[in-house]
Amino acid sequence: DALANKIAAGEVVERPASVVKELIENSIDANSSWVRVEVEEAGLQRIKVTDNGDGMPGVDAEKAFLRHATSKIKHETDLFRVNTLGFRGEALASIAAVSKLTVKTSQGESAGTFLSIEGGVIKDRSKSDARKGSEIIVEDLFFNTPARLKYMKTIHTELGHITDLLNRLALSHPDIRFEVTHNGKALFSTAGTGDLLQVISQVYGMSVARKMVPVKHETLDFSIEGYIAKPEVTRASRNYMSTIINGRYIKSMPLTKAIINGYHTLLPVGRSPIVVLAIEMDPILVDVNVHPTKLEVRFSKDRELFAAVEETIRAAFKSTSL
Ligand code: ADP
Ligand code: MG
Repeated sequence: DALANKIAAGEVVERPASVVKELIENSIDANSSWVRVEVEEAGLQRIKVTDNGDGMPGVDAEKAFLRHATSKIKHETDLFRVNTLGFRGEALASIAAVSKLTVKTSQGESAGTFLSIEGGVIKDRSKSDARKGSEIIVEDLFFNTPARLKYMKTIHTELGHITDLLNRLALSHPDIRFEVTHNGKALFSTAGTGDLLQVISQVYGMSVARKMVPVKHETLDFSIEGYIAKPEVTRASRNYMSTIINGRYIKSMPLTKAIINGYHTLLPVGRSPIVVLAIEMDPILVDVNVHPTKLEVRFSKDRELFAAVEETIRAAFKSTSL
């Protein structure tokens, strides 16, 4: 019901960046090769995400805005083999509960579906055009939860969270073309050619991309691939260290530490490197079912993984002139 959704929303929808994250992850899960993100006033006014993905049938679209409606988990055992970014089926319902939302979605054959939802209540339903894909607009976020709205920081801070997130999503998916605007001005766009170094250049700039060293290493259990910046390219925060497990951007203190250890003594005190590391492993080896926002994970072969990462980075520097 509406109240339960509003309460649950607090868990998933912390700030505008959380909405952007959930919408884009859905676009990615729906096999989109192109995602456009248009944000107004750091998302507090409006977030619009358009994709060219699979779309939803009308009945599914309505269900998607109810609690725990996911098309991604069919059996309980699937929970241990998660390949998609979403799987809990609570994001859309939570977002819809605390905003004014419209969705247009079509699988591309016949007419699509249009829905308008306010605070979790369907206000309008009709047909939309047959363009394959989905377009979701979220307006007036937290309009009915003033307590939450009060906790929003400045536009600058909220936009920082969104930019940080979008950078990482783009870096995690070099094969997807991202177009991102804020208040009508382009923030960045990527080409979607699958070339990670090109994405790094489009997101962090050419001068950073030029200082990146490629890494590639395979063990029995892990395939590690990406780019690490030479120690001279450092930042005061760890926001520029991206670790991606099976296409999912994650946060892991020990993994971050393993990367920094790989730099050995090369890193200036208090500085962090720019790194993008994509690690592939059997999904059975990683538990993403730890937290609703799914940023933290647990590894079954954790020590092996951290050792491999540290060694991979150390080896990359040995074979590069600094
Ligand atoms: P989850 O991603 O955990 O399944 P969500 O609440 O994020 O839950 O989405 C609910 C369902 O709505 C998804 O399982 C999917 O079937 C559908 N869906 C959401 N967004 C899109 C999209 N952009 N394109 C196609 N289907 C979507
Ligand atoms: Mg989702």
